[in-house]
Amino acid sequence: MKLKIDTMPTEEGFFGNYGGQYIDENLKNEFKKIADKFLELKDDKSFNDELNYLLKHYVGRPSAMYFAKNLSQKYGAEIYLKREDLNHTGAHKINHSLGEALLAKRMGKTKIIAETGAGQHGVATATAAALMGLECDIYMGEIDIQKEKPNVDKMRILGANVVCVKEGSRTLKEAVDAAFRAYINEYETAIYAIGSVVGPHPFPMIVEHFQSVIGKEAREQFLEMTNSLPDYLVACVGGGSNSIGIFNGFLEDGEVKIFGVEPLGKSEKIGENAASLTYGKDGIIHGFKCKLLQDENGDIAQAYSIASGLDYPGVGPKHCYLQQIGRAEYVTISDKEALDAFFELSKMEGIIPALESSHAVAYGLKLAQKNPNKRILINLSGRGDKDVEFVLSHKN
Ligand SMILES: *Cc1c(COP(=O)(O)O)cnc(C)c1O
Repeated sequence: MKLKIDTMPTEEGFFGNYGGQYIDENLKNEFKKIADKFLELKDDKSFNDELNYLLKHYVGRPSAMYFAKNLSQKYGAEIYLKREDLNHTGAHKINHSLGEALLAKRMGKTKIIAETGAGQHGVATATAAALMGLECDIYMGEIDIQKEKPNVDKMRILGANVVCVKEGSRTLKEAVDAAFRAYINEYETAIYAIGSVVGPHPFPMIVEHFQSVIGKEAREQFLEMTNSLPDYLVACVGGGSNSIGIFNGFLEDGEVKIFGVEPLGKSEKIGENAASLTYGKDGIIHGFKCKLLQDENGDIAQAYSIASGLDYPGVGPKHCYLQQIGRAEYVTISDKEALDAFFELSKMEGIIPALESSHAVAYGLKLAQKNPNKRILINLSGRGDKDVEFVLSHKN
């Protein structure tokens, strides 16, 4: 059953009603240049040769497709994992960070500016910048800097300049605001490298393109291993980059049911989760329109999840569109369920997942229990080294 799904946004950057470009007039011209250069390079042979060389020899792609035999026996369905946790730097983020850095070079920029929350996007960006000889400023909230010391140390070792943001709640949202303010003054020599399929057009389109390598590989690998497509495809959704990356490989395969897993955190109450597609209303954050967590006054609400890579109050516009047209279903998993899945995968298969990815694993295991003999593909977006200390200190 072949479906036809638009993969590209409109020229103004809309996926259905979502996305767009709600930004300072000064930046519109520059963003058009970035969009045009990207559209030219994405089909350019020398650009793709360079990117593919790095994906293979530096990142270690293709990432493995693994049949989780022990979990499959226990839960009764066939469970497969796409192993983005095996990538250099430990997660899928390096896929788009390298792409963005290469784009920066081709545009003649000398610096990358980025924000980071937990530090994962900061480390991936600092890595790409080190490799390509670009300067790198990473904006990070003061609270996050204290909480995420190992990642801050890594960014500094890699040569990045970590800029401490002391406004507001001193976390991710303010870091994005500060990074954008800095960028407005430096756009002639710098490029902004966003951490997910969010932000104003053209960033969602660019990040989605570089992450789509996951789904492209996964479809081929799955067909080769099983001679079929998965019945269910599952990935966690923060901003939505690892999920859209794997979903894109299967969007037109109508027989594949697609699930995006949002963090339910502690409860359904606004402020205690980060499930934007489940509990959000249409709104604008960081220059684009999406499902957005808002309080009773319509102000942007605090987002919370045990997995700091998932606690963003908005979500990528393409996901809002896929939800609207019914091509993907968005479900939730609580902190507690994610923690249980973290230990289950570690103990059953010897793979310690990131807490973000544990949300996808938890939902995949639920599907397996209810649907014996089906084939389930879970995107394992990253590894759990960064979470070990936190998980042990919260296991009472
Ligand atoms: C950052 C991160 C996520 C969430 O980001 P998406 O853009 O939704 O993919 C998920 N998993 C890991 C391991 C991460 O580092």
